[in-house]
Amino acid sequence: MSNCAIVGINWGDEGKGRMVDLLTADYDIVIRYQGGGNAGHTVVNEYGKFALHLLPSGIFHRGVVNILGNGVAMDPENLWNEIQTVAAQGVSVTPDNLKISSRASLLLPWHRELDGLEEARLKDKKYGSTRQGIAPFYSDKYQKKTVLAGELFYPEELKAHLADLLEWKNLTLTRVYGAEPCTMEQMTRWIQEYAEKIRPYVCDTGAYLRQAQAEGKSILFEAQLGTLRDLDYGIYPYTTSSNAIAAYAPVGSGLPSAKIDEVIGVVKAYSSCVGEGPFTCEWFGEEAEKLREAGGEYGAKTGRPRRVGPLDIVATRYGVQIQGATAIALTKMDVLSYMDRIPVCARYRLNGVETEEFPFPTVLPQAEPVTEYLPGWKQDISGVRRWEDLPEAARNYVLYIEKQIGCHIRYVSVGPERDAYVER
Ligand code: GDP
Repeated sequence: MSNCAIVGINWGDEGKGRMVDLLTADYDIVIRYQGGGNAGHTVVNEYGKFALHLLPSGIFHRGVVNILGNGVAMDPENLWNEIQTVAAQGVSVTPDNLKISSRASLLLPWHRELDGLEEARLKDKKYGSTRQGIAPFYSDKYQKKTVLAGELFYPEELKAHLADLLEWKNLTLTRVYGAEPCTMEQMTRWIQEYAEKIRPYVCDTGAYLRQAQAEGKSILFEAQLGTLRDLDYGIYPYTTSSNAIAAYAPVGSGLPSAKIDEVIGVVKAYSSCVGEGPFTCEWFGEEAEKLREAGGEYGAKTGRPRRVGPLDIVATRYGVQIQGATAIALTKMDVLSYMDRIPVCARYRLNGVETEEFPFPTVLPQAEPVTEYLPGWKQDISGVRRWEDLPEAARNYVLYIEKQIGCHIRYVSVGPERDAYVER
Protein backbone atom coordinates (compact mmCIF):
# COMPACT_ATOMS: atom_id res chain seq x y z
CA MET A 1 0.00 0.00 0.00
CA SER A 2 1.12 3.54 -0.52
CA ASN A 3 2.21 6.23 1.92
CA CYS A 4 0.98 9.80 1.78
CA ALA A 5 1.90 13.07 3.47
CA ILE A 6 -0.68 15.79 4.03
CA VAL A 7 1.12 19.09 4.39
CA GLY A 8 0.37 22.81 4.55
CA ILE A 9 1.57 24.75 1.52
CA ASN A 10 1.36 28.22 3.08
CA TRP A 11 1.46 29.68 6.61
CA GLY A 12 -0.61 26.97 8.30
CA ASP A 13 -4.36 26.82 9.04
CA GLU A 14 -5.05 25.66 5.49
CA GLY A 15 -7.39 22.89 6.65
CA LYS A 16 -4.96 19.97 7.00
CA GLY A 17 -6.91 18.42 9.89
CA ARG A 18 -10.06 18.41 7.77
CA MET A 19 -8.24 16.66 4.91
CA VAL A 20 -6.54 14.11 7.20
CA ASP A 21 -9.90 13.32 8.79
CA LEU A 22 -11.37 12.77 5.31
CA LEU A 23 -8.54 10.68 3.86
CA THR A 24 -7.73 8.59 6.94
CA ALA A 25 -10.39 6.12 5.82
CA ASP A 26 -7.86 4.86 3.23
CA TYR A 27 -4.94 4.39 5.66
CA ASP A 28 -3.95 2.13 8.56
CA ILE A 29 -1.69 4.50 10.47
CA VAL A 30 -1.64 8.30 10.94
CA ILE A 31 1.55 9.93 12.24
CA ARG A 32 2.28 13.44 13.49
CA TYR A 33 5.99 13.91 12.82
CA GLN A 34 6.86 17.42 14.07
CA GLY A 35 5.58 20.37 16.06
CA GLY A 36 3.70 20.35 19.31
CA GLY A 37 0.59 21.59 21.01
CA ASN A 38 0.98 25.08 19.55
CA ALA A 39 -1.39 24.74 16.61
CA GLY A 40 -4.93 23.55 16.15
CA HIS A 41 -6.21 21.18 13.52
CA THR A 42 -9.95 21.66 13.35
CA VAL A 43 -12.03 18.60 12.56
CA VAL A 44 -15.81 18.45 12.24
CA ASN A 45 -17.33 14.97 12.13
CA GLU A 46 -19.99 12.73 13.66
CA TYR A 47 -18.50 13.21 17.17
CA GLY A 48 -18.68 17.01 17.00
CA LYS A 49 -16.18 19.81 16.44
CA PHE A 50 -12.62 19.47 17.71
CA ALA A 51 -9.48 21.60 17.70
CA LEU A 52 -6.73 18.98 17.91
CA HIS A 53 -3.36 20.22 19.11
CA LEU A 54 -1.20 17.13 19.47
CA LEU A 55 -3.45 14.17 18.76
CA PRO A 56 -3.22 13.03 15.13
CA SER A 57 -6.42 13.78 13.20
CA GLY A 58 -6.90 10.04 12.52
CA ILE A 59 -8.00 9.51 16.12
CA PHE A 60 -11.68 9.45 15.14
CA HIS A 61 -11.39 6.39 12.89
CA ARG A 62 -11.82 2.94 14.44
CA GLY A 63 -8.99 0.54 13.66
CA VAL A 64 -6.55 3.31 12.73
CA VAL A 65 -3.36 3.52 14.80
CA ASN A 66 -2.23 7.07 15.57
CA ILE A 67 1.40 7.80 16.34
CA LEU A 68 3.23 10.76 17.82
CA GLY A 69 6.67 10.43 16.28
CA ASN A 70 10.13 11.21 17.63
CA GLY A 71 10.08 14.61 15.86
CA VAL A 72 7.16 15.89 17.90
CA ALA A 73 7.44 18.25 20.88
CA MET A 74 5.80 15.80 23.26
CA ASP A 75 3.95 17.93 25.78
CA PRO A 76 2.41 15.56 28.37
CA GLU A 77 0.29 18.29 29.94
CA ASN A 78 -1.28 19.35 26.67
CA LEU A 79 -1.74 15.78 25.45
CA TRP A 80 -3.31 14.54 28.67
CA ASN A 81 -5.81 17.42 28.68
CA GLU A 82 -6.59 16.75 25.04
CA ILE A 83 -7.18 13.04 25.63
CA GLN A 84 -9.66 13.96 28.41
CA THR A 85 -11.44 16.45 26.15
CA VAL A 86 -11.99 14.08 23.22
CA ALA A 87 -12.86 11.19 25.56
CA ALA A 88 -15.61 13.37 27.07
CA GLN A 89 -17.07 13.63 23.56
CA GLY A 90 -17.12 9.87 23.10
CA VAL A 91 -13.81 9.31 21.29
CA SER A 92 -11.87 6.42 22.70
CA VAL A 93 -8.10 6.94 23.09
CA THR A 94 -6.24 3.86 24.31
CA PRO A 95 -2.72 2.45 23.90
CA ASP A 96 -4.20 0.45 21.00
CA ASN A 97 -5.04 3.50 18.89
CA LEU A 98 -2.49 6.01 20.22
CA LYS A 99 1.22 5.29 20.45
CA ILE A 100 3.92 7.73 21.53
CA SER A 101 7.48 7.23 20.38
CA SER A 102 9.83 6.39 23.24
CA ARG A 103 12.34 8.57 21.37
CA ALA A 104 10.15 11.67 21.43
CA SER A 105 11.57 14.39 23.68
CA LEU A 106 9.33 15.73 26.43
CA LEU A 107 8.35 19.37 26.53
CA LEU A 108 9.03 20.33 30.16
CA PRO A 109 7.30 23.04 32.26
CA TRP A 110 10.30 25.36 31.98
CA HIS A 111 10.03 25.40 28.18
CA ARG A 112 6.63 27.07 28.39
CA GLU A 113 7.92 29.50 31.00
CA LEU A 114 11.00 30.43 28.97
CA ASP A 115 8.89 31.00 25.86
CA GLY A 116 6.82 33.61 27.72
CA LEU A 117 9.88 35.23 29.32
CA GLU A 118 11.66 35.61 25.96
CA GLU A 119 8.59 37.03 24.17
CA ALA A 120 8.22 39.53 27.02
CA ARG A 121 11.91 40.49 26.71
CA LEU A 122 11.52 41.03 22.94
CA LYS A 123 8.56 43.39 23.48
CA ASP A 124 7.60 44.91 20.10
CA LYS A 125 10.16 42.72 18.31
CA LYS A 126 8.46 39.52 19.44
CA TYR A 127 8.13 36.52 17.13
CA GLY A 128 4.46 36.04 17.85
CA SER A 129 4.97 32.77 19.70
CA THR A 130 1.94 30.93 21.02
CA ARG A 131 3.99 30.58 24.24
CA GLN A 132 3.61 26.83 24.31
CA GLY A 133 7.36 26.38 24.78
CA ILE A 134 8.11 25.11 21.28
CA ALA A 135 11.22 27.21 20.49
CA PRO A 136 12.94 26.61 23.88
CA PHE A 137 12.02 22.93 23.55
CA TYR A 138 13.64 22.42 20.15
CA SER A 139 16.73 24.44 21.13
CA ASP A 140 17.15 22.17 24.14
CA LYS A 141 16.56 19.06 22.05
CA TYR A 142 19.38 20.02 19.71
CA GLN A 143 21.56 20.84 22.70
CA LYS A 144 20.75 17.32 23.91
CA LYS A 145 19.17 18.66 27.06
CA THR A 146 15.72 17.15 27.02
CA VAL A 147 14.21 13.99 28.47
CA LEU A 148 13.05 11.21 26.15
CA ALA A 149 9.56 9.79 26.69
CA GLY A 150 11.11 6.32 27.10
CA GLU A 151 12.98 7.52 30.20
CA LEU A 152 9.63 7.38 32.03
CA PHE A 153 10.23 3.63 32.26
CA TYR A 154 13.42 4.20 34.28
CA PRO A 155 12.34 6.40 37.27
CA GLU A 156 15.69 6.41 39.10
CA GLU A 157 17.73 7.37 36.03
CA LEU A 158 15.07 9.91 35.06
CA LYS A 159 15.30 11.62 38.47
CA ALA A 160 19.08 11.95 38.20
CA HIS A 161 18.83 13.23 34.62
CA LEU A 162 16.19 15.80 35.59
CA ALA A 163 18.29 17.00 38.53
CA ASP A 164 21.19 17.72 36.14
CA LEU A 165 18.93 19.52 33.68
CA LEU A 166 17.30 21.49 36.48
CA GLU A 167 20.62 22.81 37.72
CA TRP A 168 21.53 23.93 34.20
CA LYS A 169 18.14 25.41 33.34
CA ASN A 170 17.92 27.37 36.59
CA LEU A 171 21.02 29.31 35.57
CA THR A 172 19.10 30.63 32.56
CA LEU A 173 15.87 31.22 34.45
CA THR A 174 17.46 33.15 37.30
CA ARG A 175 20.52 34.82 35.78
CA VAL A 176 19.31 35.63 32.27
CA TYR A 177 15.65 36.39 32.96
CA GLY A 178 15.68 37.10 36.72
CA ALA A 179 12.86 34.58 37.18
CA GLU A 180 12.19 32.11 40.00
CA PRO A 181 14.11 28.82 39.80
CA CYS A 182 12.32 25.50 39.28
CA THR A 183 12.50 23.00 42.12
CA MET A 184 12.79 19.22 42.08
CA GLU A 185 9.53 19.05 44.06
CA GLN A 186 7.75 20.87 41.22
CA MET A 187 9.25 18.49 38.69
CA THR A 188 8.28 15.42 40.73
CA ARG A 189 4.74 16.69 40.99
CA TRP A 190 4.65 17.37 37.24
CA ILE A 191 5.82 13.82 36.52
CA GLN A 192 3.10 12.39 38.73
CA GLU A 193 0.38 14.66 37.40
CA TYR A 194 1.10 14.44 33.70
CA ALA A 195 4.11 12.45 32.53
CA GLU A 196 3.05 9.22 34.26
CA LYS A 197 -0.42 9.54 32.73
CA ILE A 198 0.96 9.26 29.23
CA ARG A 199 3.43 6.46 30.01
CA PRO A 200 1.03 3.64 29.00
CA TYR A 201 1.03 5.04 25.46
CA VAL A 202 4.82 5.16 25.14
CA CYS A 203 6.50 2.37 23.17
CA ASP A 204 9.06 1.58 20.48
CA THR A 205 7.04 3.00 17.60
CA GLY A 206 9.99 2.52 15.23
CA ALA A 207 9.80 -1.24 15.68
CA TYR A 208 6.01 -1.10 15.32
CA LEU A 209 6.30 0.86 12.06
CA ARG A 210 8.96 -1.38 10.54
CA GLN A 211 6.69 -4.35 11.19
CA ALA A 212 3.66 -2.50 9.80
CA GLN A 213 5.59 -1.55 6.69
CA ALA A 214 6.66 -5.17 6.18
CA GLU A 215 2.99 -6.18 6.40
CA GLY A 216 2.12 -3.69 3.65
CA LYS A 217 0.20 -1.28 5.86
CA SER A 218 -0.29 2.24 4.54
CA ILE A 219 0.73 5.37 6.40
CA LEU A 220 -0.58 8.91 6.40
CA PHE A 221 1.90 11.53 7.62
CA GLU A 222 0.24 14.63 9.09
CA ALA A 223 2.18 17.89 9.13
CA GLN A 224 1.65 20.79 11.46
CA LEU A 225 1.81 24.39 10.13
CA GLY A 226 2.95 25.07 6.55
CA THR A 227 5.94 25.53 4.25
CA LEU A 228 6.42 29.19 5.10
CA ARG A 229 6.78 28.31 8.79
CA ASP A 230 9.32 25.57 8.12
CA LEU A 231 12.52 26.22 10.06
CA ASP A 232 14.82 25.80 7.04
CA TYR A 233 12.60 26.89 4.14
CA GLY A 234 10.19 29.38 5.67
CA ILE A 235 10.24 33.10 6.50
CA TYR A 236 13.03 32.75 9.08
CA PRO A 237 13.08 33.84 11.88
CA TYR A 238 9.26 34.01 11.82
CA THR A 239 9.13 30.27 11.40
CA THR A 240 8.41 27.49 13.79
CA SER A 241 11.37 25.59 15.26
CA SER A 242 10.91 22.31 13.39
CA ASN A 243 10.62 21.07 9.80
CA ALA A 244 7.02 21.05 8.64
CA ILE A 245 7.87 19.84 5.12
CA ALA A 246 7.05 16.41 3.73
CA ALA A 247 10.71 15.48 3.32
CA TYR A 248 11.09 15.45 7.12
CA ALA A 249 8.13 13.10 7.63
CA PRO A 250 10.09 9.82 7.49
CA VAL A 251 12.74 11.12 9.93
CA GLY A 252 10.31 12.64 12.43
CA SER A 253 7.91 9.72 12.28
CA GLY A 254 10.30 6.94 13.26
CA LEU A 255 10.47 5.26 9.85
CA PRO A 256 13.42 7.00 8.15
CA SER A 257 13.42 4.50 5.29
CA ALA A 258 9.79 5.22 4.38
CA LYS A 259 9.01 6.17 0.82
CA ILE A 260 6.34 8.84 0.43
CA ASP A 261 4.33 8.04 -2.68
CA GLU A 262 2.07 11.02 -2.55
CA VAL A 263 2.28 14.53 -1.08
CA ILE A 264 -1.07 16.27 -0.80
CA GLY A 265 -0.52 19.98 -0.32
CA VAL A 266 -3.36 21.83 1.35
CA VAL A 267 -3.98 25.36 0.06
CA LYS A 268 -6.71 27.68 1.23
CA ALA A 269 -8.65 29.59 -1.47
CA TYR A 270 -7.36 32.82 0.13
CA SER A 271 -4.46 33.54 2.51
CA SER A 272 -4.26 33.72 6.27
CA CYS A 273 -1.35 34.04 8.63
CA VAL A 274 -1.32 33.97 12.39
CA GLY A 275 1.37 35.80 14.33
CA GLU A 276 4.23 37.99 13.22
CA GLY A 277 6.41 38.19 10.10
CA PRO A 278 6.13 39.55 6.54
CA PHE A 279 2.81 38.72 4.85
CA THR A 280 2.96 40.40 1.47
CA CYS A 281 -0.65 39.89 0.37
CA GLU A 282 -2.11 41.19 3.64
CA TRP A 283 -5.35 43.16 3.63
CA PHE A 284 -6.29 45.72 6.25
CA GLY A 285 -9.44 47.55 7.33
CA GLU A 286 -12.97 46.74 6.28
CA GLU A 287 -12.00 44.45 3.39
CA ALA A 288 -9.90 42.30 5.74
CA GLU A 289 -12.58 42.28 8.42
CA LYS A 290 -15.16 41.00 5.93
CA LEU A 291 -12.95 38.14 4.74
CA ARG A 292 -11.91 37.26 8.32
CA GLU A 293 -15.57 37.10 9.35
CA ALA A 294 -16.59 35.07 6.29
CA GLY A 295 -13.78 32.55 6.86
CA GLY A 296 -13.97 32.50 10.68
CA GLU A 297 -10.26 33.26 10.76
CA TYR A 298 -9.50 33.20 14.46
CA GLY A 299 -6.75 30.96 15.89
CA ALA A 300 -7.89 27.48 16.98
CA LYS A 301 -5.46 27.53 19.92
CA THR A 302 -5.33 31.20 20.87
CA GLY A 303 -8.51 32.77 19.46
CA ARG A 304 -6.27 35.48 17.94
CA PRO A 305 -7.70 37.15 14.80
CA ARG A 306 -5.67 35.84 11.85
CA ARG A 307 -4.19 38.21 9.30
CA VAL A 308 -5.90 37.65 5.95
CA GLY A 309 -5.53 38.49 2.27
CA PRO A 310 -6.15 37.09 -1.21
CA LEU A 311 -4.49 33.89 -2.39
CA ASP A 312 -0.76 34.50 -2.77
CA ILE A 313 0.31 32.74 -5.96
CA VAL A 314 4.03 33.50 -5.45
CA ALA A 315 4.17 31.99 -1.96
CA THR A 316 1.90 29.08 -2.97
CA ARG A 317 4.03 28.16 -6.00
CA TYR A 318 7.12 28.20 -3.76
CA GLY A 319 5.32 26.03 -1.20
CA VAL A 320 4.31 23.50 -3.86
CA GLN A 321 7.91 23.23 -5.08
CA ILE A 322 9.47 22.90 -1.62
CA GLN A 323 6.94 20.27 -0.56
CA GLY A 324 7.19 18.30 -3.79
CA ALA A 325 3.38 18.25 -3.82
CA THR A 326 1.85 15.68 -6.14
CA ALA A 327 -1.73 16.92 -5.70
CA ILE A 328 -3.51 19.86 -4.06
CA ALA A 329 -6.54 20.10 -1.82
CA LEU A 330 -8.01 23.59 -2.20
CA THR A 331 -10.08 24.41 0.88
CA LYS A 332 -12.65 27.03 1.87
CA MET A 333 -13.78 27.85 -1.66
CA ASP A 334 -17.26 28.49 -0.22
CA VAL A 335 -15.89 31.42 1.81
CA LEU A 336 -15.23 33.46 -1.35
CA SER A 337 -18.85 33.23 -2.55
CA TYR A 338 -19.68 36.71 -1.22
CA MET A 339 -17.12 38.47 -3.45
CA ASP A 340 -18.10 40.24 -6.68
CA ARG A 341 -14.66 39.52 -8.09
CA ILE A 342 -11.95 37.24 -6.72
CA PRO A 343 -8.60 38.88 -6.03
CA VAL A 344 -5.28 37.03 -6.29
CA CYS A 345 -1.77 38.21 -5.49
CA ALA A 346 -0.33 37.21 -8.88
CA ARG A 347 3.23 38.55 -8.51
CA TYR A 348 5.38 40.61 -6.17
CA ARG A 349 7.02 43.95 -6.90
CA LEU A 350 10.47 44.20 -5.39
CA ASN A 351 12.62 47.32 -5.88
CA GLY A 352 10.33 48.38 -8.71
CA VAL A 353 10.68 45.06 -10.57
CA GLU A 354 7.89 42.48 -10.84
CA THR A 355 8.85 38.95 -9.88
CA GLU A 356 7.26 35.50 -9.62
CA GLU A 357 10.06 34.18 -7.37
CA PHE A 358 9.62 34.02 -3.61
CA PRO A 359 12.24 36.44 -2.18
CA PHE A 360 14.94 35.80 0.42
CA PRO A 361 13.51 36.44 3.95
CA THR A 362 15.61 39.57 4.56
CA VAL A 363 14.07 41.45 1.63
CA LEU A 364 10.60 39.90 1.84
CA PRO A 365 9.22 42.83 3.93
CA GLN A 366 9.99 45.14 0.99
CA ALA A 367 7.89 43.11 -1.47
CA GLU A 368 4.55 44.57 -2.56
CA PRO A 369 1.65 42.55 -3.97
CA VAL A 370 0.54 42.83 -7.60
CA THR A 371 -3.17 42.04 -7.49
CA GLU A 372 -5.29 40.66 -10.33
CA TYR A 373 -8.99 39.83 -10.35
CA LEU A 374 -11.08 36.94 -11.64
CA PRO A 375 -14.88 36.92 -11.94
CA GLY A 376 -16.79 35.92 -8.80
CA TRP A 377 -19.63 33.38 -8.72
CA LYS A 378 -21.86 35.07 -6.11
CA GLN A 379 -23.82 31.98 -5.11
CA ASP A 380 -23.72 29.44 -2.32
CA ILE A 381 -21.56 26.47 -3.36
CA SER A 382 -21.44 24.66 -0.01
CA GLY A 383 -23.90 22.00 -1.18
CA VAL A 384 -22.00 21.17 -4.40
CA ARG A 385 -20.46 17.68 -4.58
CA ARG A 386 -19.60 17.33 -8.28
CA TRP A 387 -17.09 19.32 -10.31
CA GLU A 388 -19.55 19.96 -13.12
CA ASP A 389 -22.04 21.43 -10.64
CA LEU A 390 -19.68 24.19 -9.56
CA PRO A 391 -20.45 27.54 -11.23
CA GLU A 392 -18.23 28.22 -14.21
CA ALA A 393 -16.49 31.15 -12.48
CA ALA A 394 -15.57 28.88 -9.54
CA ARG A 395 -14.19 26.21 -11.89
CA ASN A 396 -12.22 28.89 -13.72
CA TYR A 397 -10.72 30.09 -10.45
CA VAL A 398 -9.56 26.54 -9.65
CA LEU A 399 -8.13 26.06 -13.16
CA TYR A 400 -6.34 29.41 -12.98
CA ILE A 401 -4.66 28.51 -9.68
CA GLU A 402 -3.72 25.06 -10.97
CA LYS A 403 -2.00 26.58 -14.00
CA GLN A 404 -0.16 29.19 -11.93
CA ILE A 405 1.18 26.80 -9.29
CA GLY A 406 1.89 23.88 -11.60
CA CYS A 407 0.14 21.15 -9.61
CA HIS A 408 -3.12 19.29 -10.07
CA ILE A 409 -5.94 20.37 -7.75
CA ARG A 410 -7.61 17.08 -6.87
CA TYR A 411 -9.93 18.16 -4.05
CA VAL A 412 -11.99 21.33 -3.77
CA SER A 413 -13.42 21.70 -0.28
CA VAL A 414 -16.65 23.69 0.06
CA GLY A 415 -17.38 23.27 3.77
CA PRO A 416 -15.82 22.08 7.04
CA GLU A 417 -17.86 18.85 7.20
CA ARG A 418 -16.21 15.59 6.16
CA ASP A 419 -18.29 15.11 3.00
CA ALA A 420 -18.31 18.76 1.85
CA TYR A 421 -15.90 18.47 -1.06
CA VAL A 422 -15.57 17.87 -4.78
CA GLU A 423 -13.03 15.41 -6.17
CA ARG A 424 -11.65 15.89 -9.66
P1 GDP B 1 -5.24 23.21 9.98
O1 GDP B 1 -4.44 23.66 11.16
O2 GDP B 1 -4.50 23.27 8.70
O3 GDP B 1 -5.89 21.88 10.20
O4 GDP B 1 -6.40 24.27 9.81
P2 GDP B 1 -7.34 24.92 10.95
O5 GDP B 1 -8.10 23.89 11.61
O6 GDP B 1 -6.56 25.85 11.81
O7 GDP B 1 -8.26 25.88 10.07
C1 GDP B 1 -9.12 25.42 9.11
C2 GDP B 1 -10.55 25.88 9.47
O8 GDP B 1 -11.33 25.89 8.33
C3 GDP B 1 -11.24 24.96 10.43
O9 GDP B 1 -12.11 25.69 11.25
C4 GDP B 1 -12.04 24.04 9.51
O10 GDP B 1 -13.19 23.47 10.12
C5 GDP B 1 -12.42 24.98 8.44
N1 GDP B 1 -12.55 24.41 7.10
C6 GDP B 1 -11.78 23.48 6.49
N2 GDP B 1 -12.16 23.30 5.21
C7 GDP B 1 -13.19 24.16 5.01
C8 GDP B 1 -13.99 24.49 3.88
O11 GDP B 1 -13.84 23.97 2.78
N3 GDP B 1 -14.96 25.46 4.07
C9 GDP B 1 -15.16 26.09 5.25
N4 GDP B 1 -16.12 27.01 5.33
N5 GDP B 1 -14.42 25.80 6.33
C10 GDP B 1 -13.45 24.86 6.21
